[in-house]
Formats: sequence, C-alpha cells, structure tokens
Amino acid sequence: MSVYLLRGVSPLGAEPVDLLIRDGVIAELGTRLSAADARVIDGAGLVALPGLVDLHTHLREPGREDAETVESGSRAAARGGWTAVHAMANTDPVADTAGVVEQVWRLGRRSGWVDVRPVGAVTVGLGGERLAELGAMADSAARVSVFSDDGMCVHDAVLMRRALEYVKAFDGVVAQHAQEPRLTENAQMHEGEVSAALGLTGWPAVAEEAIIARDVLLAGHVGSRLHVCHVSTAGSVEIIRWAKARGIDVTAEVTPHHLLLTDELVRTYDPVYKVNPPLRTADDVAALRAALADGTIDIVATDHAPHPVEAKDCEWGSAAMGMTGLETALSVVQEAMVDTGLLDWAQVATRMSSTPARIGRLADQGRPLAVGEPAHLTLIDPAAVWDCDPAAMATSGRNSPLRGRKMSGQVVATFYLGQPTVLDGALNEPVELS
Ligand SMILES: [Zn+2]
Repeated sequence: MSVYLLRGVSPLGAEPVDLLIRDGVIAELGTRLSAADARVIDGAGLVALPGLVDLHTHLREPGREDAETVESGSRAAARGGWTAVHAMANTDPVADTAGVVEQVWRLGRRSGWVDVRPVGAVTVGLGGERLAELGAMADSAARVSVFSDDGMCVHDAVLMRRALEYVKAFDGVVAQHAQEPRLTENAQMHEGEVSAALGLTGWPAVAEEAIIARDVLLAGHVGSRLHVCHVSTAGSVEIIRWAKARGIDVTAEVTPHHLLLTDELVRTYDPVYKVNPPLRTADDVAALRAALADGTIDIVATDHAPHPVEAKDCEWGSAAMGMTGLETALSVVQEAMVDTGLLDWAQVATRMSSTPARIGRLADQGRPLAVGEPAHLTLIDPAAVWDCDPAAMATSGRNSPLRGRKMSGQVVATFYLGQPTVLDGALNEPVELS
C-alpha cells in the first residue's frame, strides 16, 4: 500500500498538523513528521474533513444507465469529497430484493471510487401496497440498513407503521419522502405567490408537513427510528423540533439546493430548477439554515438526481424533476453555512460525515481524524473560487442548477481506504477491492 504524508493540513479547520497515511489508516498525526517512503502532499491552507457520507444519491443503475451509472456516479462522488454514498432504490428494476441490492453493491465494489451502500425499497416496486423483503435485503451481502421508497411517499399509514416496526429487528431505518400524494397531484412548483403569478399548479408546504407530522407520531408510537428525506419547509422544521423535544427518534436531512435557492428562480421557466420537493421561499431557506445550524436538521444529503439532457431540455411542464449535487454540495455548504458563520468545519464534519454514517450504520465511515482510524479523508481549499460548468463534471447529468455560478471552496483531494481517489482537484485512481 502507498504511503502519503499530508503536510500542514488543518483537521476540521484547527491548527495545521502533518498527517501520515499508511496501510489504509491514519498512522501518525503531529508536527514535522517524516517518512522516507511517503509521497508528500502540501496541505498548506487545506482543511481536512473525514470523508463525506451521502445518505441520498440516485445512481440510476440498473435500468437508467443513460442518466448515470454506478461508475459515473461514484466518480462524481469522489470528486465531490464523498467516500460513501447511499444509492436510492428507484431504479429499474427497483431495488426491492436481495438480488438487486447485491447487484448494486457489487457494481460499487467493482468501481472502487467510494463505498456504495444500496438503499432497499420499502414496498414492492415502490407500489405502496405490499412491504418488500426488508429482512432479506438486510441479511444480504449488501447489508442494507436504510429503506426508502424515495421518489414516492409511503402514504399508507398502516404500511408505514409495519415498515417502522419491521426494521427494528435489524436496527434499520425508514427514510421517508414526505409528500401527501392527493395534495400534490400535477404539482409543478412550490404553492405560493410565484406559482399564483405563473399559473402553475402548486406543491403546498402542508403536503410535506402533514406526512412528517403523521410519521413522527407513528415512529414514537412504535418506538422506531425515522429519517425524513429532503426537508424543505419552515413548518417541517417546527414539527421535527417538536418531535425531538418529545424524545422521538427522528433524524432529518436538507439538500444543498434547498439551503441556497428559492422558487423565484422558477420565473425563468428553466427546467433545471424543477425538483421534488420544490424550491421554496426565502423564509424557508432561512429556517432550514437555522435548523441545520442548531441540529434540528441533522445532516446535508445531496438528493443527486441526474437526468439525460432530453428529460430537462423541454418545456417546464413535461421536464423531469431533480438536480445533480454530488460535485457542488460541499461548496454550497461552505457558501450557505460556513462563510455566513452558521457552522464551523467541525460542525460540517458531523453534518456531512459522522452523523450520516451513524444513521446508515456505517461503522468505518465518519470516524474521527485520529491515529488508527480508517483513512477516509477530504481535503478542501476554502479559499479557492471556481466556475460551475456541468460539462466538466464527472457525473453524466448536466442538470446542475448552479451552472455558470462562481463557487467557493474546492475539493482538492479525497482519500478512500487510504488511497487518493482525487488528487490536485482531479480524479486519480479507484481502489481495487478484492
Ligand atoms: Zn425524494
């Protein structure tokens, strides 16, 4: 195994130290370290974070390889500083059996850019009618612990209750896409002033909040863990805050785009801004930032949702919903949360690495930057400024809502299992896993 000496990096933004990586672990931390066999990397000005862990990624394989593959999505993840991603189950076929989740897991192992953790569907075919074989997926080689019908809401209260009860047996968690389907039929954007002005059918905040309210009560009732995907409204934040105060075991995520963008962008009719849940108001953005800062919202997850060009290069009404995010997330978090003084880098590490790893029960990810720990690391240059150009990204998706923007903070290197998957800001090599 190769040996790397990172000279003068700032762990979690603290005073610079040297960090020696050997045999896949952090072997030494200190000042003026030396190792004759090490490749030396100048870390001056770079912040070292534990490798980022995404609880919500769409890798599209199997079935939609025209949008993304496990390989291309894994490369994008490495470029963005991630060392583990949870691959959502809304593939074709749906990841609702041990066979499909093992297929995705093996594709991830073969790619070797990040740890690909398959998410299992809650219901057969995301149909919302019968529970999938949750236990078989948990027992499979993929060791699934996160279950979600993401893209669809588990709207039947009895099924949701059964899923919450069932996953307790193997310490799993149900990740809910909170969207009351009847309240969002034909919805095109956030329901509010802008939708009224544009004459587009609205996706009301209450459609998200009603499901979250029901689900936290169900989780409390059965004593199970609940995770809420992509929280997007101020009202949802209030409900989650209430549930946590009551001792209900709920965690929640927010996406980078919901921390930065608002429904005012829909006035352009550019389908790149069409997403589910939709971009909300500036007041919602402020509430989401405050909730991520105070811990009511636990983590940032990308909801990276690549689409082929033709699915977005059309009229607003017929365009697919979703945005890419793996390669821009850390920069957005820096702009929205760090540069604004709402979070320091240590708090970013909990929200983008250790807490998502804990929710997903990934034992060797999200670990402290300490001697003997696995060397999953991200090095970011907070002073770097770059232009967001979707054509230059590793993802197959070109649907970044940030295209043309000046981005703050750049991932310079990513280490996965002690090997640099990214060096000098560019893809290096994947890790060969036996
Ligand atoms: Zn979703």
